[in-house]
Amino acid sequence: MLATAETLAFDREHLWHPYTSMTEPTPVRLVTGASGARLTLTDPRLGYDDREVVDGMSSWWAAIHGYRHPVLDAALSRQAGEFSHVMFGGLTHAPAVELGQRLVSMTPEPLERVFLADSGSVSVEVAMKMVLQYQRGRGRPERTRMLTVRGGYHGDTAHPMSVTDPEGGMHAMWQGVLPTQVFGQVPPRIGAGPGYVEMWASHLVNEIAAHRSELAGIIVEPLLQGAGGMWAYDPECLVVLRDLADEHDLLLVFDEIATGFGRTGHLFVSELVTPDILCVGKALTGGYLTLAAVLTTDEVARGISASEAGVVMHGPTFMGNPLACAVASASIDLLVSSDWAADVGRIADRLTAGLEPLREAPGVADVRTIGAVGVVQLDHDVDVVAATDAAIEAGVWLRPFRDLVYAMPPYVISDDELDTLVAGIGAAVRAG
Ligand SMILES: *Cc1c(COP(=O)(O)O)cnc(C)c1O
Repeated sequence: MLATAETLAFDREHLWHPYTSMTEPTPVRLVTGASGARLTLTDPRLGYDDREVVDGMSSWWAAIHGYRHPVLDAALSRQAGEFSHVMFGGLTHAPAVELGQRLVSMTPEPLERVFLADSGSVSVEVAMKMVLQYQRGRGRPERTRMLTVRGGYHGDTAHPMSVTDPEGGMHAMWQGVLPTQVFGQVPPRIGAGPGYVEMWASHLVNEIAAHRSELAGIIVEPLLQGAGGMWAYDPECLVVLRDLADEHDLLLVFDEIATGFGRTGHLFVSELVTPDILCVGKALTGGYLTLAAVLTTDEVARGISASEAGVVMHGPTFMGNPLACAVASASIDLLVSSDWAADVGRIADRLTAGLEPLREAPGVADVRTIGAVGVVQLDHDVDVVAATDAAIEAGVWLRPFRDLVYAMPPYVISDDELDTLVAGIGAAVRAG
């Protein structure tokens, strides 16, 4: 095994990190362990060795049960003792079927056809292909564009980028490369009042009227816009979208890759309003392996089959990976057999009470909580290195972005760990 210094030196020279410069990289810390709601970090730069910190990020929404959960570890090794991967073309296996059963039964009734994809972005690619193929199957090949809203985030591959908020370089940089989609205004914030929802609805009616012959579907993150700014919007907006989709023969896609599996206090936001296509990912495997799923209705499946291809034109090498499916089923069983709603409520209450005083802190523009997600928005872009270092110093792992210091901890986080988390967020806010 390499010494810490060599490991970090090779990493710095050779490995890309998410949205990080290869030539001028910001520092990374070495993870030497992870257990429950804690990570163990080493960073010679700051002089700490195997420091235990409370994880505020759930590894980007995924590790809802924390790390090294004995039940998930066991599910993974059990499946590894059978077989780890086989192709899904022409073959099937119990882990995929058992996961499919769970997904069909835990999501709203009409969503009963399941496509297993290898990451969130790929699931959005598949969902958008389904929309286009459905319209072709219905004899409407000219319908090729998606309606979405500003402030959204749907992933990093091409089609998902095209429906992600075009601010932040995406639009200018990819002009002429990505398909151009139709962007409506950001939905009114939760609590904005019915007048705002009506105004927003009539704005969308105009957008649809202007593009009627070319629109194929609508895609949004329901209720909570995640990486686009961590804003919750009025759930009535989902009713508006459902009605507009029905009225104009558009398929409604909900991207619940971040919101799924209880994070907002709903098992799925799709319980409020049912979409035609649902994408889930991130917490699907409890953060153990990359896996996502696209669920749709029999009606959409039939439409796709009526398109000239007759099949969904997608089939990744690692489709339905048995290890990922086995751990996903175990994670779902853990979730539904726990009182997850109580945990999400407990985290929400403690984050709300703990973060509210920060509203008065210098540089703070807003404080908000939605489900087990706490957000402090600054009036400037966060100094990520300074804020992260300060959080670690206070015993917490955070990864701020843009003007946001935020946390969505594992559901297993204890009350004491939550207090540490709140202190760490405060430290990051003051330093950032
Ligand atoms: C993270 C995320 C994605 C992309 O998922 P990956 O697994 O990173 O490809 C898509 N949509 C939403 C809402 C997300 O939060």
